[in-house]
Amino acid sequence: MSFQHIFDTYSWDDTRASIYAKTARDVEQALASRKRTPEDFKALVSPAALPYLEEMARLSSQLTQKRFGKTIQMYAPMYLSNECQNICTYCGFSFDNKVKRKTLNDAEILQETGAIRQHGFNHVLLVTGEANHTVHTAYFKHAVELLRPHFANISVEVQPLDTDEYKILHEAGVYAVLVYQETYHQDVYKTYHPKGKKSNFGYRLETPDRVGEAGLHKIGLGVLLGLEDWRTDSFFCNLHLDYLQKTYWQSKFSVSFPRMRPAEGIIEPNVIVSDKELVQLICAYRLVNEDVELSISTRESEHFRNNIIPLGITSMSAGSKTNPGGYAVEPQSLEQFEISDERRAEEIARLISRSGYEPVWKDWDNALL
Ligand code: SF4
Repeated sequence: MSFQHIFDTYSWDDTRASIYAKTARDVEQALASRKRTPEDFKALVSPAALPYLEEMARLSSQLTQKRFGKTIQMYAPMYLSNECQNICTYCGFSFDNKVKRKTLNDAEILQETGAIRQHGFNHVLLVTGEANHTVHTAYFKHAVELLRPHFANISVEVQPLDTDEYKILHEAGVYAVLVYQETYHQDVYKTYHPKGKKSNFGYRLETPDRVGEAGLHKIGLGVLLGLEDWRTDSFFCNLHLDYLQKTYWQSKFSVSFPRMRPAEGIIEPNVIVSDKELVQLICAYRLVNEDVELSISTRESEHFRNNIIPLGITSMSAGSKTNPGGYAVEPQSLEQFEISDERRAEEIARLISRSGYEPVWKDWDNALL
């Protein structure tokens, strides 16, 4: 049994049609419900819910405070490599983009570590492209062992791996694995991923199952907002989350909201997700799920990030560099995507405090395991 079995019982077109058919009455029922269902999620992300955004935001804020208090977890991504054998039409690191490739060595990883730690971060997210000959499980394990003395919490966002490989990373001290399906629209998935292992929709879809089987503490999901209809994609992502939470109940879960940003050689967004719609989506996740962590990155604008803090999110990156060596080794190299909010971590921490929330730099310590 895996999520594939559930996914196969749904049709993209029928699901999309049923979301767009939701009415004000469906939204009101969803808002009044004590235990919200995937059908309620459809209503809450539907166009019919937009006039109810203020109420959704109020409820989302209350539920988030009840479960998480007034806290925002701070983390920084560390890009270890931009080598990639895949072609993804929306990514600056795509195999067919003629950019200088780089994979950090030990000395460079430690140099980046020093720069990130200087800003106060204790939680780091290691990111790579998919280049199995250079950036593989042994490389990740070694990097994690190198970083363990310096960071309390290490997560990874790398290519999908097998269960045994995830077990190795878990034992090495990895706390969370983030893997985004990008789009759940199986018929068009291949047009965005024409070459490389990532073009295998099913293997990617079952990745969170393998992460769960390996016993990781946290599993992160998401879709790339801008590829396909965001409402339908998010319905499937929420369905996936619902299945995983029931199946791997020992693990925690997070959802991220990457909205397409400019990068070298990428396609324009197919679908524009407005700021208002992104708020609606964040609130909809919170209203159906009190426990899920919701994360916003520096892809988003200063204005958006200034205002989203009290509305349901629980973690934020800050001062991010999306190129390997971007903090200290090679600050001028090409980024995976352009950062929108370029403010330093210290400034974001002050913003969080001014909003009445506490920036949390550390709430976990690998050293105590
Ligand atoms: S999205 Fe990931 S897998 Fe695709 S080209 Fe970019 S780095 Fe490679």
